[in-house]
Amino acid sequence: MNRRHFFRSSLVAAGSSAAALPITAAGSSKPGTFAEPARELQLVEDADVIVCGAGPAGVSAAISAARTGARVRLFEWRGCLGGVWTAGLLGYLLDFNKPGFAKEIATRLAERDVRRGTSATSICYEPEGMKLLLEDMCAEAGVKFQLHTRVAAAYLEGRRLATLVTESKSGRQAWRAPVFIDTTGDGDLGALAGCDFEIGEAKDCPCQPMSLNALLVVKDAAALKQFIHVSDPDKTVGESKKAFLREIGRAGHFPSYSGPTLWQVRDNLLLVMMNHEFGVKPFDAAQVTEATVHARAELNKIVNSLRKLGGPWEGIQIAVTAEQIGVRDGRRIAGRFVVSKGDLVTGVRHEDAVVRATFGVDIHALSAEHNKKAATEDKGIKVKPYDIPLRALIAKDVDGLMMAGRCISGDFIAHASYRVTGNAVAMGEAAGVVAALAARSKRLPQDVPWSEGVDALKKNAKA
Ligand SMILES: Cc1cc2nc3c(=O)[nH]c(=O)nc-3n(C[C@H](O)[C@H](O)[C@H](O)COP(=O)(O)OP(=O)(O)OC[C@H]3O[C@@H](n4cnc5c(N)ncnc54)[C@H](O)[C@@H]3O)c2cc1C
Repeated sequence: MNRRHFFRSSLVAAGSSAAALPITAAGSSKPGTFAEPARELQLVEDADVIVCGAGPAGVSAAISAARTGARVRLFEWRGCLGGVWTAGLLGYLLDFNKPGFAKEIATRLAERDVRRGTSATSICYEPEGMKLLLEDMCAEAGVKFQLHTRVAAAYLEGRRLATLVTESKSGRQAWRAPVFIDTTGDGDLGALAGCDFEIGEAKDCPCQPMSLNALLVVKDAAALKQFIHVSDPDKTVGESKKAFLREIGRAGHFPSYSGPTLWQVRDNLLLVMMNHEFGVKPFDAAQVTEATVHARAELNKIVNSLRKLGGPWEGIQIAVTAEQIGVRDGRRIAGRFVVSKGDLVTGVRHEDAVVRATFGVDIHALSAEHNKKAATEDKGIKVKPYDIPLRALIAKDVDGLMMAGRCISGDFIAHASYRVTGNAVAMGEAAGVVAALAARSKRLPQDVPWSEGVDALKKNAKA
């Protein structure tokens, strides 16, 4: 394992190493910089497909690749699988009425009694139940997953992504595979590999705001019925949000998310989303820290004030705030096709469609001022169900790299629609199957016709 590789470093790895060996700095650095010495790393070459980030897209990609016969490694920075579903305490699955893996997840959540409501499109679930389900599904498929492990550097050989480096309590480790999938949400791997990307409204932010979700314990959920969001199609959506906003006002606050939402997760356990953190870049750790601390303080203030109102709010308290503040806008890695606003308006169709997205354009207020006028906007765009092609999941600038989830190739408006998790799952499923087929036949993902992917998915479904 001590082979020396000469890689073209695409980007200097950020962050500090957890390696145990003390290293003496050699060579001079420019003022204000530190030249980190090169070192030999343990190299592991036991996977056909490496998936980076275990959110909805990442777990779907990893399981799908493994079911297609690939040896799969999955790296996740947080302490659980699921990304925004679990570490972010999302609690609600949107645009989820899809065949394949989405259907399987919805069915298995119901079998475990951790799914609420009867809607097939908008599903409330218990985040803790989701964690267990995803671990079981990865184990069943034979995915080797490693938590608490961050992808920190990527190295190319020519145009091809060849090796990545992770950081964890095991120190820095190098991993090689024929195909990689970036499912970090923020597009970390694509950026580290040197791919072009966009973020937010223009080339750079403004970005959609972040939100920190929380689980609440209440004395009597039935007494709060009028404030709890229901996803079942026969109910009026929106009235509960307005009623909840009025109650927060009665408690003396105007929330930074003016469409505050409560969901019932189980019995007297509710989930709340009622804050926005504006103008935060997802890859600036200091900014994300400040946003998290600020959001947590706002949540606590509002919940403490609601409790003081008494009545149905008597005894309400925060059980836990999310480990991860919810990031809506990350990097969108340049792919071989860019999903754009025009596709949503015309309801575009593609021969290599991996999913048909139906969710509307959902742009959360970009500033506190906007939030006072409206919590979200759709820019007057009426979405016709549209296709996302496989080409949007294949990197343009680097070979051997695919994307799935919110970091695929698209523009700001399109991303504001396709980012919800029903689409992330379907994209993950497609990326996983194509990555496995490519790796096992020594081809690049762009050389695998989508018809082969469809056939493989059908076989996987029967198995
Ligand atoms: C506040 C909020 C509310 C939302 N509401 C809804 C909703 O109600 N319903 C819905 O369906 N969708 C909703 N969305 C959208 C949806 O949750 C996301 O777009 C979706 O999670 C995308 O899935 P993903 O797998 O691409 O990314 P993520 O869920 O963000 O997963 C990315 C994973 O990669 C990991 N990761 C990141 N960087 C690294 C790295 N360098 N190394 C290793 N691991 C890494 C992260 O820890 C994470 O687990 C919401 C999003 C937010 C933020």
